[in-house]
Amino acid sequence: MKIAIIGAGIAGLGLAIGLQRAGIAYSIHERVGHLGQEGLGFILRQNGLDALAQLGQGVVDEVEDAGAWLNHFTLRNPHGKVLLDQPLEGALGIRRAALIQCMMNHVQADSVTMQHQCIGFEYDANGRAIAAKFDDGQQIEANLFVACDGSRSRVRQMLFPDAQLEPVRVHELVSIVHDAEMAAALEGRFLKTQQEEGCLSIGLVPCGGDRVIWYMQFDGTHTLAYDSSEEQRRAFAQKLVGDWADPIPRLLKNSDWRGTHVWRTTDMDGLPTLHKNNIVLLGDAAHPMLTFTSQGVNSALDDAHQFCQLLEQGQPSAETIEAWAQKRLAEIAPMREMGRELAQQFLVFDPNQTRTVPLVD
Ligand SMILES: Cc1cc2nc3c(=O)[nH]c(=O)nc-3n(C[C@H](O)[C@H](O)[C@H](O)COP(=O)(O)OP(=O)(O)OC[C@H]3O[C@@H](n4cnc5c(N)ncnc54)[C@H](O)[C@@H]3O)c2cc1C
Repeated sequence: MKIAIIGAGIAGLGLAIGLQRAGIAYSIHERVGHLGQEGLGFILRQNGLDALAQLGQGVVDEVEDAGAWLNHFTLRNPHGKVLLDQPLEGALGIRRAALIQCMMNHVQADSVTMQHQCIGFEYDANGRAIAAKFDDGQQIEANLFVACDGSRSRVRQMLFPDAQLEPVRVHELVSIVHDAEMAAALEGRFLKTQQEEGCLSIGLVPCGGDRVIWYMQFDGTHTLAYDSSEEQRRAFAQKLVGDWADPIPRLLKNSDWRGTHVWRTTDMDGLPTLHKNNIVLLGDAAHPMLTFTSQGVNSALDDAHQFCQLLEQGQPSAETIEAWAQKRLAEIAPMREMGRELAQQFLVFDPNQTRTVPLVD
């Protein structure tokens, strides 16, 4: 059995690590020329860490060393008054680049082909894919093709052309600040400051060493263009949260605005299934998640682990893949709904609303 993996992001590398351990032949094909140089970071939750531990021995130890444990969640109003303070378990802040590097350490280097964009498939008379086609004209034959090509998945578009990503009103401005004093003062705290009437917040997540990831969530009807300049972004954040309680002013002052990223979040209804014959979708390609869930990365690792378990039983038939897909869709659906609820709570202020940790388990 030979598996061709499309996309060397979190799901693709996770599956490769599992296949490597299980001794199943695989190749990975990645569109870009270098990995991990873009992107900021996220919170790994217990389900993601457990999946990673099962995929490959020793990966989690490296990941824990590269990230920072988050032991508390604190929600405050802009004046610094604490609205919720709750212990956290199994939550690790980590840079995307650091996680990708740790995962790459456990994948056979010659199994990865960079600058190899999948553009389609060759099919046999029964509609089963026999080869993936790439932008350099190459065709790669395999028994099974696993598309881990992210939220704007080209393979998903080919398999399910009706599935559409919908824009969401919540936008984010995201960055990392290097500030050893601030990182230490957070003492492993995921600190969120939120305008009490909703629609504006800024979250700080220590992610290892002197680095703190921050993300400002705002109503996208405020205008901040994707291609706005550093100065426009700085001025935008300054205007909205510049006079909020410490350490927000310091954060804005010390951030490297060249590294900020404007993220227009998207949502998508669940797909009817996660495969067509022997082409399977994993991670964001299968089920893009709202950022409120913090489950994009974790559910991608879970997908990789659960699909690897299926492959360890031998080459799966379309029926066994379908059973796997329906089980996974049922597990994902409540996460999607909870993400939508958290987004709604953020947008529509309800004074009686119970405040909760903005993470979905
Ligand atoms: C550059 C980048 C930066 C990110 N930064 C953050 C962040 O800071 N915070 C956060 O919460 N989430 C971030 N994400 C999203 C996050 O990584 C995913 O939500 C989550 O990890 C799910 O992983 P995934 O493997 O499904 O998708 P991804 O991690 O997005 O990986 C998809 C991979 O597929 C590759 N690819 C796409 N199309 C093709 C093709 N046709 N052929 C071959 N390869 C293809 C992409 O280049 C990418 O490497 C980022 C994603 C990317 C790609």
